[in-house]
Amino acid sequence: MALTLFAVTLGLAPVVHAGTAAQQRAHLTRFLIPAGAPLAAFALSEPGGSANFDAPPPAEGVRTTAVRDAGDWVITGAKKWVSNSGGWDGTGPDLMCIVARTDPAAAASTALSVLLIPGPVTGLTVTGTPDTIGHRAHSTPTITLTDVRVPEGNVIGDVGGGLRIVGSAFGPAAAQVGVFGLALMRAAFDHALRFARANRRGGPVPIIDYQAVGYALASAKTRIEAARSLTWRACHALDTGSPAGHELALHAKVFGSETAVAVITDLMQVVGVDSYAHEQPLGRLLQDALALPLFGGSNLGLRRRQLHAMLREPGYDEDATVSGTPAAPRPRATPQRRPARTGRRAASSR
Ligand SMILES: Cc1cc2nc3c(=O)[nH]c(=O)nc-3n(C[C@H](O)[C@H](O)[C@H](O)COP(=O)(O)OP(=O)(O)OC[C@H]3O[C@@H](n4cnc5c(N)ncnc54)[C@H](O)[C@@H]3O)c2cc1C
Repeated sequence: MALTLFAVTLGLAPVVHAGTAAQQRAHLTRFLIPAGAPLAAFALSEPGGSANFDAPPPAEGVRTTAVRDAGDWVITGAKKWVSNSGGWDGTGPDLMCIVARTDPAAAASTALSVLLIPGPVTGLTVTGTPDTIGHRAHSTPTITLTDVRVPEGNVIGDVGGGLRIVGSAFGPAAAQVGVFGLALMRAAFDHALRFARANRRGGPVPIIDYQAVGYALASAKTRIEAARSLTWRACHALDTGSPAGHELALHAKVFGSETAVAVITDLMQVVGVDSYAHEQPLGRLLQDALALPLFGGSNLGLRRRQLHAMLREPGYDEDATVSGTPAAPRPRATPQRRPARTGRRAASSR
């Protein structure tokens, strides 16, 4: 459920960041009124792999195409793993921002565009649903688009300017994956700590009294606190527009996701064999955590590659993450002078 809601904000991000006022009015309004359950999607990933969506020719990169025809864009291709892309009933989401190739030969920096597909739309077909390991209530179907027509004005930003929009939508999403990792670790830790305090497993003392168990819990908590601090810093940097935001978000994504998998696995050892059944929550939490290094831009295929590219930049400032993130001092609110109160009521209110 968290992913379904998260994917709505991801799907709307291109309109929020780069849409015109008219596009925002036309496409955001239905998501702002307290009625219905509209779904949005941001469709980048494709069958056959998407880590190299920005690779220059002769790499294929994005294979879905959008071609101008009689005042419309005609979109053809397939997308896979896109959250909410089937909508609630297989007819597609209420709004899909789709990444398509508008220039067949150019490099990704000028060949990709983001187009708005309001649903339901003719030509969108759900062709499959991956039987996922975790996030079982979340829908990431495979869809094909056959001659899907949208008006020419449905390009967000400039034609050919899609790469920048992908970055502005998926960049902050990296920090949010750190938040998902943290949430899963918290739930797992809460369960393992209660279990270790409450269970003797046939021995004379609760298992938390054994040093091995206590140290494993302590080590898990250390890593949770480290992930929490990093994620907070990343979110704060993004919220305050710090230049360090992008790098910190990448660290929060990579560290938070991989730490979640490791910590939950270790906490299963704390609980022991009973954690290996679905009657306990740890297996399910691990199944969900396993997605985190793989999605939102996989850690190996995309996010570490982005960090690597930063480090190779001649102007890279390794200290930007140090100076860029402390909380800016908030202007002190001028205390509102209240009329002096007298008597018993004033005394008790203090
Ligand atoms: C639950 C869930 C929800 C998702 N929601 C969305 C969504 O809403 N929208 C969307 O567009 N996508 C979504 N995805 C897809 C997700 O974002 C993936 O990150 C994306 O498809 C790319 O996967 P990948 O990096 O494994 O790519 P692939 O191209 O399949 O790469 C496979 C592996 O190859 C290696 N590799 C490939 N190229 C390189 C390279 N250049 N350098 C180094 N290693 C490389 C890496 O090990 C990589 O992990 C979702 C996925 C899941 C599981």
